[in-house]
Amino acid sequence: MQETDAPIVLDKGSEDPAPRVSPRLGIIGGGQLAKMTAMAGIRLGCEVVVLEREGQCPAASLASQMLVGDWNSVEALTDLAARVDLVTLENEFIDAESLEALEATGALLLPAARTLRLIQDKLKQKQVLAEAGLPVPRFRDAPDKEAVRAAGEAFGWPLLLKARRNAYDGKGNATVAAPGELDAAWDALTRGREKDALYVEEFVPFERELAMMITRGRDNATVAYPLVESIQRDHVCHIVKAPATVPEAVAAEATGIASRAAELVGCVGSMGVEMFLGGDGRVLINELAPRVHNSGHYTIEACDCSQFENHVRAVLGWPLGSTAMVAPAAVMINLLGRVTAPAIAPGLARALAVPGAHVHVYGKAMTRPGRKMGHVTALGATPEEAFRTAQSAADLIRFGELQ
Ligand code: ADP
Repeated sequence: MQETDAPIVLDKGSEDPAPRVSPRLGIIGGGQLAKMTAMAGIRLGCEVVVLEREGQCPAASLASQMLVGDWNSVEALTDLAARVDLVTLENEFIDAESLEALEATGALLLPAARTLRLIQDKLKQKQVLAEAGLPVPRFRDAPDKEAVRAAGEAFGWPLLLKARRNAYDGKGNATVAAPGELDAAWDALTRGREKDALYVEEFVPFERELAMMITRGRDNATVAYPLVESIQRDHVCHIVKAPATVPEAVAAEATGIASRAAELVGCVGSMGVEMFLGGDGRVLINELAPRVHNSGHYTIEACDCSQFENHVRAVLGWPLGSTAMVAPAAVMINLLGRVTAPAIAPGLARALAVPGAHVHVYGKAMTRPGRKMGHVTALGATPEEAFRTAQSAADLIRFGELQ
């Protein structure tokens, strides 16, 4: 048993005695988002140090040092910061107090703890957006069931009951169709959570889900990627189509909203803005993610400068790259696990034989139902062509299944 929270440094060979010229980037979290950020950073000459709870994680093979420790431990975070020029992160769930304590040591953290504090409580996030006049679904705090019933009377049923914190891939959400379903949804979502853990939102009968990546530099320079359509399956992002086929006015409105949101929360780096397009043509913000995002994976092949490279450029204070697409259309399909098994992928070779399919495998040892294991991106002259190429490769890859 370790006596302190100091992370364990996995041996990556002896340190190079030559003077160091490359910037060192620390990443909190070692999943696929950290891996793709590291790939972009390494291409620009950076060294990457990763802090993650497990040594065997997607970004480990790229890290010049792999720290195994708890993200929420100030000691582990401080140890990471001492090894790098600046710290960034791949998820928004790291305890804001620990991040503030890290900043208090003089470490540079981007995006800053303040941004994370605003965003990681979804109720607070909605309040900040609404107060700034940005369009969000109607919402209310839900300290008790009575407050939910009152919201139902005001907004109508169904309602979305949501966990304020630590919710992802829809795991903290319940759709409550009628007052009679409230008890069960309340019990399911409050179990294991602290007091005042929920808030409630009107159900938005959206026509489509949209998303946009924004990258904001240390000097406030901001670039916006094309608006995309994201198609969810079981509350998990499944397909991203770029650009979204919406009227120009909708794209312009969404771009304005997303850029203002990034500025409002002071995000430095790449940030995902998830939105709903209502049947009435209105755009509402669903949620912000102050980090690189699944809806921006297509940018690796489809844009001049990817969301990952622009994130690295932004946090290092370098000029941001062009977000222009290099083809008329791109489609990204997530490769989600279906079974629990070691993550062998027998169809990979056949998928690689599909012309124009760009296959990404995250390198997770185990696959589980719904787990993000990789993705495929294809470009095309039309959205249909890009979709056909991506799908024909994605269909061939089934992690953990003998085929
Ligand atoms: P998570 O943060 O867990 O991904 P979200 O709050 O983004 O959860 O919700 C996941 C999905 O649930 C959304 O992509 C959307 O499909 C649906 N959803 C969320 N909020 C609403 C809402 N107010 N009305 C209708 N559908 C919603």
